[in-house]
Amino acid sequence: MALQKETTPTHIHTLLKQHFGYDTFRPNQQAIIENVLKGKDTLAIMPTGGGKSLCFQLPSLAMEGTTIVISPLIALMKDQVDALKSNGIAAAYFNSSQPQEEQSLILEQLIANQLKLIYVAPESLWGLTNHLSKIQINLVAIDEAHCISSWGHDFRPAYTQLSRLKAEFLGTPIIALTATADKATQDDITKQLGISHATRYISSFDRPNIYLDVRPGQQRIQQIFKFLGSRGKQSGIIYCLSRKSTDMLASKLKEKGYDAKAYHAGLDAEERSKVQEDFINDRVPIIVATIAFGMGIDKSNVRWVIHYNMPKNIEGYYQEIGRGGRDGLKSHALMFYSFADVVMLRKFAAGTPTEEFQLAKLERMQQFAEALSCRRKALLNYFGEYITEDCGNCDICKRPPKYFDGTLIAQKVCSAVARLKEQEALGTVIDVLRGAQNQQVLEKGYQNIKTYGAAKDISWKDLQQYVIQLLNQGVLEIWFHEKGRLLLTPFAKQILFEGKTVRLANVIQETVEAEKPKRLPTRGKDLFEKLRTVRAKVAKEMGVPAYVVFSDASLQDME
Ligand code: ADP
Ligand code: MG
Ligand code: ZN
Repeated sequence: MALQKETTPTHIHTLLKQHFGYDTFRPNQQAIIENVLKGKDTLAIMPTGGGKSLCFQLPSLAMEGTTIVISPLIALMKDQVDALKSNGIAAAYFNSSQPQEEQSLILEQLIANQLKLIYVAPESLWGLTNHLSKIQINLVAIDEAHCISSWGHDFRPAYTQLSRLKAEFLGTPIIALTATADKATQDDITKQLGISHATRYISSFDRPNIYLDVRPGQQRIQQIFKFLGSRGKQSGIIYCLSRKSTDMLASKLKEKGYDAKAYHAGLDAEERSKVQEDFINDRVPIIVATIAFGMGIDKSNVRWVIHYNMPKNIEGYYQEIGRGGRDGLKSHALMFYSFADVVMLRKFAAGTPTEEFQLAKLERMQQFAEALSCRRKALLNYFGEYITEDCGNCDICKRPPKYFDGTLIAQKVCSAVARLKEQEALGTVIDVLRGAQNQQVLEKGYQNIKTYGAAKDISWKDLQQYVIQLLNQGVLEIWFHEKGRLLLTPFAKQILFEGKTVRLANVIQETVEAEKPKRLPTRGKDLFEKLRTVRAKVAKEMGVPAYVVFSDASLQDME
C-alpha cells in the first residue's frame, strides 16, 4: 500500500470539498479516515445515515490504487456507484446479476487501474481474486459488516467467507462498517475478520428528533387511521411482518383515500424499484412494506414510521425507525405490539441454527415494548450508550407511570448479580433473591451467598418486572451470547457504591397465573396450548418460569 505524499488534515478536507462538496466532517468521520490512512484496521459503528460510505471512499481517493468494497445488496451497490460517478469518481460494481460482457468490461477497467472503487457482493468476490492479484489494492471495506456475525440480526452465510480476506490481502488495511452491532457482535465481527486489534469508533446512536411511541396492538388499523388523520400527505413507512399484511393494509388505506403502495420481495424487481422511486421523489407518500424496504434508501423527509408488528429485535427496530427524520426535523416512530406478533416471530426463529439466540433478542425487544421508563434511555442503553436524563420525547416521558423510590430493590438486585459473579440469567438471580429452594440454586450452593432471600417479600413476577425495568434503565445488561447472563453496567456500580438512586414504576400485583387463564377464546384454544409449549421451552432455555404474561385481550388479537 502506498500513501500519497500528503494525507494531512488539510488534504482530506480538500478532498471532502472537492469530491463530495461538503465543508465539514460528520462526527468520527475524520478520525476514522485518518486511522485508515495510517494503514490501520478499523471498526466503525455509526448509525444509519451517519456517513459511513465516506469513511472508505475518501481514503481511497487519498491513496494510490483501488478499494474493494464488500456490500450485501445489489441495490445498495448500484446506488453508491451511481452517487460516486455523479461526483466524478471512477467506480463500478461486480456481481452475478450482470451480463457477461459487462463483467468483462469492468475487469478490463480494473486491471487497467482505472477504478478507484470496486463494489463486490461477497458471493462474487472469489471470482475476482485472480484478477485482483494484478492490481494494487489500497483498502478493503466491508460494509454492513454485521452480516458476518450470526449474532447480528441479518446474518449472511457468504459473509463468513470474508475471514479469508486478511490473509489474502496481507498488509492491506481493512475497515468494517455497520450501523447495528451490540458489544458482543462487534467483538465477533473483528474476530472473524482477523482484525481483533482494529481501532473502534462508536458514534452516538441518539436520534433526538424521533419521537418514540409504543402501543398495544389492539385494533391497530383503526389506530393507524386515527394517527394518519392529518398526516396522510406526509412521507411515511408502515412496516409489516408478512407480505400478506402489506397488501391488505395498502388496500385498506387506499379504500380510505390514502395514497399508499405495498412493497415486498414478491413484487418483481422493476415494480419494486418503481415503488421506491415514487416514494423517494414524493410521488407516493405512504409505503406499506416488509423490512426488505429501505436498506440504503437516502430520503430525508420521512415524517413517520409505523411498525404494524413488533420487529424481531432492537437492532431492526432502531434501523427502521432511523429511516425517519434524516433531515433532523421531527419524526414520529409508532410501534404496535401484541402477543400474536411474538408468536409469529418465534415461529420464524424456530428450527434455525441460531434459534436460542434469536429468541433471546426477541425477548429483549418485548421488554423494550413493555418499558415503563424513558424509551430512548432503554434504546441507547441497548447499544451500550448510557444517558442519564430522561429524553422528554417519548410516550413514557410524556405520560409517565407512577414511580416509587426503587433504590433499595435495585441495590439488592445488583448486589445479587455481583455475588453471582455475573454468571447467571434473570431466572436464577430472582430465585436467589427470593430464597428459592430449587435444585439449581441448592446444587450451586447459592443459599450461602449474602443476598439469598434478600427480596423474599416481593412476588416472583413483580421482581421479574423490576429486573426488566432495571434492564431498560441501563442498570443491568443481558449477555445474549452466553445463556442470557445478567451483567452490571457502570450505572449499577453507581447505585451500589455512589449513592445513585433509582425510580421504579409500580407494577400491578398479578395473582392469577396466566398459565391457567380463566377465559380462553375458543378458537384460540389449540393455538394457546401450542404457545404454552413454545413458551415453556423458551422459558426453560432462558432460565425463567413459564409465566404467560399477556392479557386475554392480546390472545383474542391473535385469532
Ligand atoms: P450510512 O452508510 O452511514 O447510512 P451514508 O454514507 O449513506 O450513510 O451517508 C448518508 C448521507 O449523508 C449521504 O447523503 C451522504 O452524502 C451524507 N454525508 C456523508 N458525509 C457527510 C458530510 N461530512 N457532510 C454532509 N453530508 C454527508
Ligand atoms: Mg451505508
Ligand atoms: Zn423518554
